[in-house]
Amino acid sequence: MATSPLPTGKSYSVRKQRLLLIGGGHAHLFVLEALRKRQPAWRDQLEVSLVTRDLRTPYSGMLPGLIAGHYRCAEAHVDLQPLAAAAGVALAQATVDRFDPVRRRAYAGGREWPFDMVSLDIGSTPPLAEVPGAATYALGVKPIEEFLGSWRDLQGRMDTLARPVHVVIAGGGAGGVEVALAMAWRLAAWRHRVRWSLVTSGELLPGYPRRTARLAARHLADAGIGLKTGAAVSAVEEGKLYFADGSGAGFDGLVWATGAAPQPWVAASGLSCSDDGFVLINRQLQSVSHPHVFAAGDIASSQQDYRPKAGVFAVRQGPVLADNLLRYASGQRLSAYRPQRDYLSLISTGRRHAIANWHGLAFEGDWVWRLKDRIDMRFIERFSIPSGSVRPESGQGQAQRRR
Ligand SMILES: Cc1cc2nc3c(=O)[nH]c(=O)nc-3n(C[C@H](O)[C@H](O)[C@H](O)COP(=O)(O)OP(=O)(O)OC[C@H]3O[C@@H](n4cnc5c(N)ncnc54)[C@H](O)[C@@H]3O)c2cc1C
Repeated sequence: MATSPLPTGKSYSVRKQRLLLIGGGHAHLFVLEALRKRQPAWRDQLEVSLVTRDLRTPYSGMLPGLIAGHYRCAEAHVDLQPLAAAAGVALAQATVDRFDPVRRRAYAGGREWPFDMVSLDIGSTPPLAEVPGAATYALGVKPIEEFLGSWRDLQGRMDTLARPVHVVIAGGGAGGVEVALAMAWRLAAWRHRVRWSLVTSGELLPGYPRRTARLAARHLADAGIGLKTGAAVSAVEEGKLYFADGSGAGFDGLVWATGAAPQPWVAASGLSCSDDGFVLINRQLQSVSHPHVFAAGDIASSQQDYRPKAGVFAVRQGPVLADNLLRYASGQRLSAYRPQRDYLSLISTGRRHAIANWHGLAFEGDWVWRLKDRIDMRFIERFSIPSGSVRPESGQGQAQRRR
């Protein structure tokens, strides 16, 4: 409790506002950083908690490198525990599954978190529910921790299978292409034993320059990955998938890397959402229906500025979100986030090589991968606080594990 002096000289108690951060995504890393840097200014006003499913946030740009084996797990993740401890934020590990913006509570299993203001940065998953059987038989590329576990299992199984195996990657966007090339690179030594296919409902890399798609198609061919475009998967059963035209294909592993879907509790909460269930936000990153609810990253869709779901936007929203949360808490005017129209997009091609897209131009090279590596490493370093270097205050920053 903070105390404020009364005019009489007596003092009365003022409850601090409770700010709840749900999800340790890219944008919330900047919020934790801002809270750390701006201490003790907000300490008298705010009590901040972070509830997150994972204690380590995978950095999106490094996922393909992690799958390909260029990075170790720790190199491609931000550890939230020291970051929260240094910021004076109470951290709990839990998966929120219900949310009530009116009663101002978030729930995870039997536990609940009351809040005065809240920020959602919980990312998205591939839309497995859209295709019958996919949720049961396909491996979603997110949550990444689950995918990496299945990926390790698949590599382990290679040894035990006496026959050649067929691995299919569904999704012809940047994520699908990168994952397919990274997996094939990692298992290059097994090339004679693994057949790879990339299937996609539309063309390869829609929205990218045609030259990028041509370069990617060449890399897929070089890696021995068969490409099937205009082939929407309509149903999946154990070991077999079916396309919309009625044809089918057998598989030993099916990786789902298509698009982005929100968690269902978000739309069920009564927040104003887009038709596909993402939180509708204004330029100040507030819910258009509940101004004490902020959202950033994949889970948010802007009413004014449509942009694809990509980590680069979560990263750019981060500093504005941090600033606006603190401004909102103290009743100040909020600032606006205006997303850039074009951005440098880097697609890695399995080995330490990448294709760059910049203002409609496409170029590639090992040097592009080195550039990407430097950018990605800088991001990880920015949010790396050695675990031993922070002493949590009164239990804050100590993770409480509860799922
Ligand atoms: C293979 C692949 C490669 C990609 N490469 C790029 C790239 O190069 N560049 C790019 O811009 N984008 C890339 N993306 C997209 C990028 O990964 C996402 O846009 C980005 O991760 C979204 O960030 P976020 O902050 O919204 O959420 P995330 O970074 O996904 O974080 C979500 C957080 O919320 C937590 N969480 C989730 N659900 C709950 C819950 N119910 N309760 C509590 N906590 C929860 C998680 O534990 C996690 O901490 C790639 C995606 C894939 C699949």
